[in-house]
Parts: sequence; C-alpha cells; structure tokens
Amino acid sequence: MNQISQHLTQIRQRIAAACRRAGRQPEQVTILAATKTRSVREVRAAVEAGISHVGENYVQELLTKKEHLDQAGHTDVAWHVIGHLQRNKVKYVASFCHLIQSVDSIRIAREISKRARQADRTQPVLIEVNISGEDTKFGIRPEEVAQLAAQVVQLDNIQLQGLMTMPPYSDDPEDSRPHFQKLAALSQQLTDGGLPPATMRHLSMGMSGDYEVAVEEGAAIVRLGTVLFGRRED
Ligand SMILES: *Cc1c(COP(=O)(O)O)cnc(C)c1O
Repeated sequence: MNQISQHLTQIRQRIAAACRRAGRQPEQVTILAATKTRSVREVRAAVEAGISHVGENYVQELLTKKEHLDQAGHTDVAWHVIGHLQRNKVKYVASFCHLIQSVDSIRIAREISKRARQADRTQPVLIEVNISGEDTKFGIRPEEVAQLAAQVVQLDNIQLQGLMTMPPYSDDPEDSRPHFQKLAALSQQLTDGGLPPATMRHLSMGMSGDYEVAVEEGAAIVRLGTVLFGRRED
C-alpha cells in the first residue's frame, strides 16, 4: 500500500509543475481520491498517505467507507459525491457531505436543500456540466447552467460553489483542454452575469489522464482514481 504514497508524491510534483507553467500556486489545487470500486483498505491507505478529500460515485459505498474510516479514527475526511445522485439517496448524504459535485437539476437541488435544512446545515454543491454535449454523460448542457445556477442560489440550505465536468475519454490529454477552457469560460460568464465570484470559486475538472492540463486551465479540484491507486483489478 506504500505504493499509494509514492503515487501521491509524483502527483503532487506534477501538479506543482503544472502550477508553475500556469502561474498558479499548488495550494489552490485540491487532490480528491476517486474511490469507486476501491476497497476500504485502499481508501484508508490513501487517507493515511495524506489524502483528505475522498469522492464516491455510489452513495452506499460512500456510507460504508465513511463508517470504516470513522471507526479507524479518520473522522476529518471531507466526503464528496461525484457520481449521479438519485433523489431518494440525498437524505443519506446531505447531513454531512463536504461537497456534492453532481447537481444537474433543480429537483435534486431542492431535495438537497430540504434534507440539509433537516440536518440544520447548508450543503455546498457544484453543478455538473456536460461540456462536450455527449449523449451518454450526466450533467446539464452549458446553455442551461445560468438558469439552474440562478435557481439554486435562491435555495436556503444549499450553497453553490462552482462547476464540475467530465470530458469524453481520450488517450490524449490535449483533447480535454478545450473542454476545460469551456468550463472555465462558463464559470467566468456566470460571474460576469451577476453571480458573486465566491459562488463560482471551484472548478472540479481533471482525472488521471488529464489532470495536469486541468490544473493549467484553472482546476481547483482534480479527481484521481487510477494514478493514485493503480489500475483497477476488475
Ligand atoms: C472514476 C472517476 C474519476 C477518476 O477516474 P480516473 O481516470 O481513474 O482517475 C473522477 N471523476 C469521476 C466522476 C469518476 O467517476
């Protein structure tokens, strides 16, 4: 499991290099471990190697992993939902989640606000944008984001903090660059259109194959599975 520490060291070096190229500071980039299909042991090893943000695609897996990590004394992990969230699952996460990154409808946003209110808190969220327009992806179309953002900021117990995207898979990280640039431009447009800059402060973009490009284009959160844990054995 020592491997994860080595991977993390390399990732941090690469992020630092990308930051230097872009005139950014490494502290502006959060490394999130994307843990779908990874075992509790692997997640714990990542946390013990220095990871403090963990993102899960599936609510049940998130709850199981959180319970194990809590029991192991890692109660300070920031948990993120990064997969499509069903309305009937919101109640399990809106009481503690650090950031729900996959809001793609006003319906889901209303449910999050309602459940966060019941837990007496405000839930930070990102809007997931289908930036490339691929049919198969979750997220809303870029031209719908302004309207959804305007509705979301009206809700009491939800706090919009930015945008998330997942470009189409490609072997060439440069293929992702225009998508990341589009997400950054969209975020800027929303700010210019009147949303407070604090609302749009996080861009969650970049995965194992393209996170250095994402950092160059302004990513605040990179979501890493394969480069951190190694190839999945499935
Ligand atoms: C799986 C996944 C990741 C990480 O993917 P890797 O290519 O393994 O780094 C990031 N974000 C989301 C939403 C994912 O589902």
